[in-house]
Amino acid sequence: MAECKTFHLFPKLPAELRLEIWRLCLPQRVCEKDQAFPGIVFDLPDDEIPVPCLLYQTTEVNGRPPAISRICRESREIALKTGLFYQFFRSTNSLLKPRPSEAEWWSYTAIHSAWFDSTRDSMHLNWEPTYRGEFDDRGSALQSLAWDASQAGGRGSINIGYFQSNYILIKDLRDALKKLPTWTVVMRVVVIHTNFSTGASTGLFGLLDDSRVQLIDIFDEARMNALFDLAEQCEPYGLVTARQQISRDSPQSIQQKLRDAVRHKLRSEETEKLLPRLRPVIMFRLCTEMCNRVGSTASIRGVRWARKARKGL
Ligand SMILES: [Zn+2]
Repeated sequence: MAECKTFHLFPKLPAELRLEIWRLCLPQRVCEKDQAFPGIVFDLPDDEIPVPCLLYQTTEVNGRPPAISRICRESREIALKTGLFYQFFRSTNSLLKPRPSEAEWWSYTAIHSAWFDSTRDSMHLNWEPTYRGEFDDRGSALQSLAWDASQAGGRGSINIGYFQSNYILIKDLRDALKKLPTWTVVMRVVVIHTNFSTGASTGLFGLLDDSRVQLIDIFDEARMNALFDLAEQCEPYGLVTARQQISRDSPQSIQQKLRDAVRHKLRSEETEKLLPRLRPVIMFRLCTEMCNRVGSTASIRGVRWARKARKGL
């Protein structure tokens, strides 16, 4: 018997059930405040090796309105009820509080606006002080993120690089860390290159594949393994230009790495107080542009990108 993919009785369901189903289809996203820079994310050992991913496509798709906003009027109303195009530079966003001056931040990598649902999303900053070597910025990125995260119920994440950079301003770090009860720390980034239907069939990037950035708790073994398995399958030997290191470190070694990084910047009693408030995660990104496939347009751009980066931007 042929598989039926249409549920004809859906319009006949009571309205409250239909609305609840639409609500359950809404993604839970990591809203990116800025564009990640491939040269820092992948720490290229050799300039002739193309970057495994140019990263921008994931950010762009992840910042679009959720898939259900394009299905019908009823589903769009559900998406618009709690979501909006969040303006990172404008002082006011309808539904949200005005941005104070200390939360203003600008960089070449900063994003003007992205879709954001304050009831379910979190805010992420890709920028870390090492970016200062390549890009100008004004204001405090961390203070700005802390404020954006406060609009997201206190859900905010930064990269481990924030604690490892020599350009870090310790006072700024201390002040910002006080602003949220807990902080999520991205310990590494893994990009999964696959097509839309494979991504959607796994459900690992949201029910409708519209939650392209996932932060996975280091103790969530089931999801961590499922994502690492998919990442491995998507990098067949001989077909990719640059393989990522898809090693699975133990949660204990990841925690130790975080402790070492924080201890490097803060006093030891301060470190021990702070560590229970830090939640280490791995970031998985879904990119359908196949940047790492031999011969793909995106991989050719990746090679050019690496050469350009070597000569200086
Ligand atoms: Zn890519």
